[in-house]
Amino acid sequence: MIPQTSPGASYRAHQTEIDDAVARVMQSGIYILGKEVAAFEKEFSAYLGAHYGIGVGSGTDALHIALRACGVGAGDRVATTPLTASATAAAIEMAGAIPVFVDVDPRTGLLDPERLERAIKDDGSQRLKAIVPVHLYGYPADMEAITALANRYGLMVIEDCAQSHGASIDLRKTGTWGHMAAFSFYPTKNLGAIGDGGVVITNDRSLAEKARLLREYGWRERYVSERAGLNSRLDELQAAILRVKLPYLDRENRRRCEVAELYAHALAGSSLETIRPTAKVQHVYHQFVVMCDRRHELLVFLKEEGVGALIHYPVPLHRQPAYLPRRPPKEDSLAHSERFCGRVLSFPMFPELTNEQVGKVIHVVKQWETTVRVPA
Ligand SMILES: *Cc1c(COP(=O)(O)O)cnc(C)c1O
Repeated sequence: MIPQTSPGASYRAHQTEIDDAVARVMQSGIYILGKEVAAFEKEFSAYLGAHYGIGVGSGTDALHIALRACGVGAGDRVATTPLTASATAAAIEMAGAIPVFVDVDPRTGLLDPERLERAIKDDGSQRLKAIVPVHLYGYPADMEAITALANRYGLMVIEDCAQSHGASIDLRKTGTWGHMAAFSFYPTKNLGAIGDGGVVITNDRSLAEKARLLREYGWRERYVSERAGLNSRLDELQAAILRVKLPYLDRENRRRCEVAELYAHALAGSSLETIRPTAKVQHVYHQFVVMCDRRHELLVFLKEEGVGALIHYPVPLHRQPAYLPRRPPKEDSLAHSERFCGRVLSFPMFPELTNEQVGKVIHVVKQWETTVRVPA
């Protein structure tokens, strides 16, 4: 069986270094907010080209804390895409705010700036405060257009970078375009811990300070809460492991791109559509997705032939029970997102995939195309 993703393979690829780092933390006797977290915050923000990093408990918490640091609170409205992990909307709701779902570009699955501007105008005086673009699958959203809109309408921008570690637009990394950004280190992400973790990124000193306070009870001074905060800290073990893996991130992203090239090349001319990045973006292929009208059949066939595949995501957020109250008044206004969710399929994608495994995936897909798939 070729798995769709493999955090275990990532551990094994760096096992000696990770085991040493874990032993170092165990022996240090300091397990929360010590040297490892401080060093990782510096190293990761430097890698991105940003000034500040604040290690937190998860990607969801990073988004929540960034939203609150940006002044988003009860009753505020936040524009985002419905084609994302539930975490994006969960974080907006955790801040007391209301997600306003805006449709995606049908070619990329990313927030559509034209639709976004319409949504901003339609919202009128209804307290739209911020935009959360998601760099879905590792493909950067159109940050030039989105930040231009944010400036014009006085909105905050918090990037959801949970799938885009190392991705860039014109060599400027995702996570450095908005007022703040949130990264997740969930084990399957491009930079993954061995448990939960996340980081808030910003270039703004005062926003950084707010996020730093929020992650630990609102303390500036120990035992004195300046504002109502929470407890969401990246721990020393996870930070030490992330420090081992960070220097390999670019190399591993390049391998993801190689695998994506092999897939895309083999699928050219087939019935499966792929997403092709433009020349100005560096895509980091958190996922390699194809669009297929007979997705369910393909999924079943792949499983039978020993190829793991997943659907990111089967149901857009506005169709999920928790977020039904947030669906837009106009029924068809999120039609592109719905069509995407109905057709998309993610192939195996992780840096440790061998060329032989990639070849097998391609072979099985071609088999489905030529023998199983009866022309519609
Ligand atoms: C993984 C993910 C998150 C949440 O990260 P956690 O660390 O699991 O809380 C948020 N947004 C997107 C787009 C994600 O893929």
